[in-house]
Amino acid sequence: MKKRIAIYGSTGSIGRQALEVIAENPDQFIAEILTAHSNTDLLIQQAVQFQPNVVIVSDELKYEQVKSALSGHPIKVFAGEASLIEIAGSDMYDILLAGIVGYAGLSSTLAAVEQGKCVALANKETLVVAGDIVSAAAKKSGALLIPVDSEHSAIFQCLVGEAHNPIEKIILTASGGPFLGKKPNYLINVKKDHALQHPNWTMGAKISIDSATLMNKGLEMIEAKWLFDLQNEQIEVLVHSQSIIHSMVQFEDGSIKAQMGLPDMKLPIQYALAWPKRLKNDFKRLNFKNYPSLTFESADTKTFRNLALAKEAMFKGGNAPCVLNAANEVVVDAFLKNKIGFLEMSDIIEQCLEKVAFIEKPGLQDYKDCNTETRALAATFFK
Ligand code: NAD
Ligand code: MG
Repeated sequence: MKKRIAIYGSTGSIGRQALEVIAENPDQFIAEILTAHSNTDLLIQQAVQFQPNVVIVSDELKYEQVKSALSGHPIKVFAGEASLIEIAGSDMYDILLAGIVGYAGLSSTLAAVEQGKCVALANKETLVVAGDIVSAAAKKSGALLIPVDSEHSAIFQCLVGEAHNPIEKIILTASGGPFLGKKPNYLINVKKDHALQHPNWTMGAKISIDSATLMNKGLEMIEAKWLFDLQNEQIEVLVHSQSIIHSMVQFEDGSIKAQMGLPDMKLPIQYALAWPKRLKNDFKRLNFKNYPSLTFESADTKTFRNLALAKEAMFKGGNAPCVLNAANEVVVDAFLKNKIGFLEMSDIIEQCLEKVAFIEKPGLQDYKDCNTETRALAATFFK
């Protein structure tokens, strides 16, 4: 039986690579549902090529364009966030690849989790914003969350066969991004073109900036906490600039397991879709002789303050990670539009964390309101 895959965010970096994995394994997977926000040209092209059962364009203004372009094909076309949610909760697919970027991915991912579906999770912001609600829903419904984020996929792989062995700690590796070793007097002048150049990975714009500021690692700490049911103290970050060790788990006997490979997101995507099987592929293999030294160092959280702010929000709990995420989405967008500088991003996030009222046990509506409020507040710090 082929697995029917719903790719939420099919036009993004994760979505496009997922479609490559599907195209390379036609006996294993079918692209059943494709969704995108506004890149309709690519969505239409993907739909014509993969002939999914359903296409959803979340920007409702683009519906007519997509509908008429696909009119000669046996493809159902829907539009809007409500359709994303409805189809995510349906039986029309086997695995939902959550590849939408940001808070926008929360509602559909949660709908799938509430229905007990299998979710291959790339959208880390879902767990950062509402990790308690999403993981409680998964426990209740029996939904399976398989991480796609390379660090979390590494940890997931290290935990195979260890169900009864408690974790002492996890070590999340970080590449350090394009500005590893740089100081504030350098960072004050960096522009988006430079920040978008990641040394090891090619990714969407938002996560590329998050990698440059180290916010990505902060979001990943919070993601790991909920995925693996960890205490905050059990999560460690280690800068490993070669991105060969994708992360590690230390068990109670002191033994450490690592998952390694060349940095290529298609591997964790393929692993999540094929789990528990490993599929043969021709991805480039790691040759240790090309990496005579693997290096490790602490993250410079005095310079890259976003990581310190994320850690603080994780320890504070409640709605603090939701505030962190919302403020971060606004400042990353502003940085990408050249409205604010690189270091200002942390200043604004810090202000938002101080000013938005703390809620210790938020419900889903509290998270939604907190997201809206924080976005509005963050936007007041620049024109
Ligand atoms: P991207 O910007 O390349 O693609 C985002 C996708 O989301 C697009 O298909 C877009 O149409 C869709 N989208 C954007 N706004 C939307 C909205 N308001 N409503 C519905 N859909 C919307 O992003 P990406 O780099 O592929 O990242 C996707 C997610 O995966 C992020 O959460 C990111 O943190 C995570 N992730 C990405 C990588 C990577 O290598 N790119 C690695 C690890 C984790
Ligand atoms: Mg990652």
